Amino acid sequence: MALLKNHKKYKIATIGSHSALQILKGAHDEGFSTIAICKKGMEKPYKSFKVADKIIIVDEYKDIFKLQNELLKENAILIPHASFITYIGYEKIETLKVPYYGNKKILKWESDRNLERMWLGNAGLKVPLIFDEPKKIDRPVIVKFHGAQGGKGYFIAKHEKDFREKIKPHKTKKYVIQEYILGVPLFIHYFYSSLTNELEIMGFDKRYESNVDSLGRISARDQLALEKVDPSYVIVGNMPIVVRESYLPRLIEMGEAVVNQSKKIVPRGLFGPFCLETILTPEEEIYVFEISARIVAGTNPYIEGSPYTWLKYNEPMSSGRRIAREIKIAINKNQLSKVLS
Ligand code: AMP
Repeated sequence: MALLKNHKKYKIATIGSHSALQILKGAHDEGFSTIAICKKGMEKPYKSFKVADKIIIVDEYKDIFKLQNELLKENAILIPHASFITYIGYEKIETLKVPYYGNKKILKWESDRNLERMWLGNAGLKVPLIFDEPKKIDRPVIVKFHGAQGGKGYFIAKHEKDFREKIKPHKTKKYVIQEYILGVPLFIHYFYSSLTNELEIMGFDKRYESNVDSLGRISARDQLALEKVDPSYVIVGNMPIVVRESYLPRLIEMGEAVVNQSKKIVPRGLFGPFCLETILTPEEEIYVFEISARIVAGTNPYIEGSPYTWLKYNEPMSSGRRIAREIKIAINKNQLSKVLS
């Protein structure tokens, strides 16, 4: 792609799902034209909310590879999000020819649980223990399944016997046995600029998960009356959180540590939006159980900006808009290669 200095000559494109409304709206707010690539039947929100100047309908998300010449002609820049990465696959993403916002090389590290743990652990963050064999279970554990089913079927087990009983219906699935941390989940949204090397806190959220978020609404007696209630963690939406201010120094340091470590594991490291998925215990320990090396859907409540972005920008600044702003600054400074891969 020949470098063009006027950002209006570029288009911001993404797959119509996850946080695309926010990404495309943010791009509009920064003066870009936008493209939504939608699977047939999924295009309505992007039409209705008028965030897409062009909607390209595909039968399958993988058809994005057939659109490459069209996207290149449009000077499109692709913005990844979780659905984008899941539907296309991180290995395939590496082969995309269309300019891509963010560092493709980091995706492998967030997609592989072992690499992810190594990254977080070496950054000095506390991670829940993993039990590689059921017989080693010596405390409450959460058993998580891989794949598109999300948090469906996850269960909590107290010991090996309990685990063996509860795993029976899931024999063929791949799973991980993780120490169960009792505390509150907190999802921390960061943005790291590869242009200024500055880390920003964009906001926080917690998830609204079915059915685990409704179990507390019925008494233990009634739960027992339901005979067998297994919690599931199927995500329905996200809710904003403002954290106790005295936590902020630690939370900022955690983000910095992750970015610094990322530069040791892949050239250029992690940049753009990312999220640490944590549990805070009553002892004020912060356990990180996952990292998302791209925008998370938990930023969606903040299309108008969060309290934190308001402090910094004094104008509505969502994570989606922050991405577009970064791309615009990079174009104007002739540094587009610093934000793409
Ligand atoms: P995940 O599929 O890893 O995002 O986890 C789904 C949900 O399970 C999270 O939103 C948390 O509420 C919960 N969870 C995940 N890992 C743990 C853990 N180690 N201890 C307690 N709860 C967890």
